[in-house]
Amino acid sequence: MDIVVLMKQVPDTAALIQISEDNVSIKTEDVKWVINPYDELAVEEAIRIREKQGGGKVIILTAGAGSASATIRTALAMGADEGILISDPALENSDPQITAKVIAAVLNNVNFDLIIAGPRAVDDDSSYVPAAISEYLGVPLLSTVIRQEISNGKIQCEQTVQDGSIVLEANLPAIITTQRGLNEPRYPSLANIMKAKKKSIVTKTLADIGLSSEQKLIKTKIVSLAYPPRRNAEKVIVEGASAEEKAARLLNLLQDKAGIL
Ligand SMILES: Cc1cc2nc3c(=O)[nH]c(=O)nc-3n(C[C@H](O)[C@H](O)[C@H](O)COP(=O)(O)OP(=O)(O)OC[C@H]3O[C@@H](n4cnc5c(N)ncnc54)[C@H](O)[C@@H]3O)c2cc1C
Repeated sequence: MDIVVLMKQVPDTAALIQISEDNVSIKTEDVKWVINPYDELAVEEAIRIREKQGGGKVIILTAGAGSASATIRTALAMGADEGILISDPALENSDPQITAKVIAAVLNNVNFDLIIAGPRAVDDDSSYVPAAISEYLGVPLLSTVIRQEISNGKIQCEQTVQDGSIVLEANLPAIITTQRGLNEPRYPSLANIMKAKKKSIVTKTLADIGLSSEQKLIKTKIVSLAYPPRRNAEKVIVEGASAEEKAARLLNLLQDKAGIL
């Protein structure tokens, strides 16, 4: 069973994000890039399905800057088999629709039974790409999946909804998107990190895909970025003659003033 994982690299959620002078992009020099957390669930699920089905391969597909090959390498160290990086300076400001179109064009030439993606990327957060790819490829989309079962060319998925869940079924090939609770992603072992260095990552440009004028079709652009409003947090220094006294006063503040405990 061949599975494609759509994986985006995003800034580490713990990173301090700074807006650039142009006011439409972020400073990337000091940013640590990681696998979008929902896509990490996708990588884990793909590996588990391949192991359970006893064959096939897991292909990681990323559109993004050249530096994204490092996060693809992390997914290969988790156990994926090969990577494809779509990278072209002309699409640095790509919107989700063009991103989906470009990814779908590549997928038209890749054998797959299943595509696993995240429901949203934690940075740009448009929740658009998997649905648009489903439309471009004409394959069914089952979203926010917390459990899946594959047999006889079909996939059955449990999907979370408010106060409950729905069980859905579709013929393969299909696209599913992940949800928290689907699995617990593994950490790459040292041996697998070494093995991953030898696995193949193919880079494709727009010309390779035959879409070299696509950037003219970008329909949305970022007009401005802003930081969230500052919270007016009150600063309190807890005084006391001893550590025990300070701890007791801190406990009081947390219980009575902040209402946290
Ligand atoms: C060739 C190319 C180069 C690009 N280069 C850059 C760049 O240098 N810098 C930059 O900031 N943006 C770049 N982009 C655009 C971009 O990466 C965004 O992915 C895109 O606009 C999606 O928006 P989103 O994050 O809101 O996706 P959402 O729709 O919120 O994402 C949902 C899910 O879709 C999948 N997905 C989304 N984006 C990608 C992706 N790029 N690759 C694989 N799977 C994805 C993931 O599974 C994700 O969990 C590039 C796009 C292309 C096509």
